[in-house]
Amino acid sequence: MMFKCTLPGMILIVWLAGIGFCGDTDIRVIERPNTQAKNDFYVGNRPPLTPSPFIKLPPGAIEPAGWVRRQLELQRDGFHGHLTEISQFLKKEGNAWLSTTGEGDHGWEEPPYWLKGFSNCGYILRDHGMIAESKIWIEAALAGQKEDGWFGPDKGRKGAATDLVGREDLWPNMIMLFCLQDYYEFSGDQRVITLMTKYMKYLTTVPEEKFLVGYWPKMRGGDLLYSVYWLYNRTGDASLLPLAGKVHRCTAAWQDDVINWHNVNMSQGFREPAVFYMQSYNPAHLAAAERNWQKIRDLYGQVPGGMFGGDENCRPGFTDPRQAAETCGMVEMMLSHEILLTLSGDPKWADRCEDVAFNSLPAAFTPDLKALHYLTAPNQILCDRQNKSPGVQNDGPMFLYNPHIHRCCQHNAGHGWPYYAEHLWLATPGNGLAAVMYAPCSVTAKAGNGTTVTIIEETRYPFVEDIEFTIKTSKPVRFPLYLRLPGWCKAPELTMNEKMLELFGANSYIEINRQWIDGDKVKLRLPMSVTLRKWTKNQNSVSVDRGPLTYSLKIGEKYVRAGGTDEWPAWEIYPTTAWNYGLVLNEKQPASSFEVVPKSWPDNNQPFEPNTAPIELRAKVRKIQAWQKDQLGLVGTLQACPLKSGEPVETISLVPMGCARLRISAFPTIGTGPDAHEWAPPKP
Ligand SMILES: [Zn+2]
Repeated sequence: MMFKCTLPGMILIVWLAGIGFCGDTDIRVIERPNTQAKNDFYVGNRPPLTPSPFIKLPPGAIEPAGWVRRQLELQRDGFHGHLTEISQFLKKEGNAWLSTTGEGDHGWEEPPYWLKGFSNCGYILRDHGMIAESKIWIEAALAGQKEDGWFGPDKGRKGAATDLVGREDLWPNMIMLFCLQDYYEFSGDQRVITLMTKYMKYLTTVPEEKFLVGYWPKMRGGDLLYSVYWLYNRTGDASLLPLAGKVHRCTAAWQDDVINWHNVNMSQGFREPAVFYMQSYNPAHLAAAERNWQKIRDLYGQVPGGMFGGDENCRPGFTDPRQAAETCGMVEMMLSHEILLTLSGDPKWADRCEDVAFNSLPAAFTPDLKALHYLTAPNQILCDRQNKSPGVQNDGPMFLYNPHIHRCCQHNAGHGWPYYAEHLWLATPGNGLAAVMYAPCSVTAKAGNGTTVTIIEETRYPFVEDIEFTIKTSKPVRFPLYLRLPGWCKAPELTMNEKMLELFGANSYIEINRQWIDGDKVKLRLPMSVTLRKWTKNQNSVSVDRGPLTYSLKIGEKYVRAGGTDEWPAWEIYPTTAWNYGLVLNEKQPASSFEVVPKSWPDNNQPFEPNTAPIELRAKVRKIQAWQKDQLGLVGTLQACPLKSGEPVETISLVPMGCARLRISAFPTIGTGPDAHEWAPPKP
């Protein structure tokens, strides 16, 4: 039996192997869910906004399990869950965010930055202590609204916390709006709608020349735009649409270009035109987010890990894989990908989100999530306390894992894992459900005719290829179930109730429409093969991928205490093994140069640690003796590949780069032909 459906630019074929398929089941590979239908249970876009291909489920609907749950538990037990004990910005006494008058200290971004990740972590884990602590800050924000609609610290209003003196700083309030939105979705507390309505009305009264003034508000107005639409979708208040237009006009013109090179502004701001597309219907606005993303990668992201050499700001000439991403940049990039996936339905945003989540974010923290650092690079061979500027842009101990410093990241990093977990499943038009990013979890939501169903997703993805879904429902219910087919997977296999199908069509979705009964099982296999990426703009260096994971050289790590407190120590990490290797590749079939070695699953359920990585690759290498660290302790910049080496061939291990705090993940290659170069010794 063959099904064929033709989409713009491609043909997708579903082949049903063996005996015929269950009569009432319709299986197709599609580009996007059909937005002609509505979702009756979850709040998507309200006309005239573009119809939503996906709709976020409320916090708590998705219950993570396995390794994802472990990240959230470690976050709760780590520095972020205890930040009120560690950070001076979260001291309750005299805190402007807790004052009904808005007066006091610490009235800028740090408390709402922290609350965003902390509260969502609590909602997901259903941790009563975290929810109660979050409520203190939420209640204060709700109680602090002024007669004219302003809320939040008085210093924000006067711009005194930054250089906006005398002008309103709308930036910290943008973060608190996200906290309030999430709290509303979790609790249904109508006071959030009342506060936001009054605040938005106030914003309509601010003249355009005084609106979103200042560096951070102007760059990050896209966050406010998202909140305006969030409120509009819940209230239908038509006055919000002109306000959205004003927010777009007064935000930096990301629709024209990448107009700022601060890594966090880029990670947030690049998506703004695509958010405005929901109102403008101008395809150029949607395309602008993609163009911005591509331009950032083209100029500064010729490296693995899903990020780019942002340091603090991107700098011409600083594009080597030793340039780093700020932890704030990673979590904001993930959130941008999640928002873009939801509003566009384009599965590439899920691929990109997984890339950052699996390959970059884990290494921003120690494996116990008790410390973090500011900067994480694809090639990073020493994380000591020494200043690395000007090799990286910012001065100070930016590579040191220290829970007491790294101010913005220390507070903001906490929304990375919770928002990721909240976007594993999304609701769809036609009252369906979509598994858009894969991880162990279960989702409980209304589908079809309003029946509450639970889908249990069992997997150790991204470390394995197999994902199994079990439907739990009290009565049979018909709804479409969507499964994302990642761009890297060329031959996915689907098994439904023991019948197997081979599917063709990457970067799309499987839609299974049927009358689901309790105990139905769907198995998805996403075969992973080793592939190589050559970074022609970074000296022809090479990265090794397998499925969604990129692999790093496994370097021995020695943790050395470097300050902090006994309860919350800070750590330097020194290499104990050599790192200066070039890959020896089979020239005809480079991917065959690697052996895949599955390992046992770690007892503590934390796979992002080099010695307990659940999978390794073996590779052949030769040392490049002249490749050394520089005087700052940074790995020497790459030189044109292939490179000569007279050293013996060795076999080494690669681990997923998310497991490796010390890492080489953009490798030089070794050559023997006339094109091979000697590594030039570093200039004194
Ligand atoms: Zn930061």
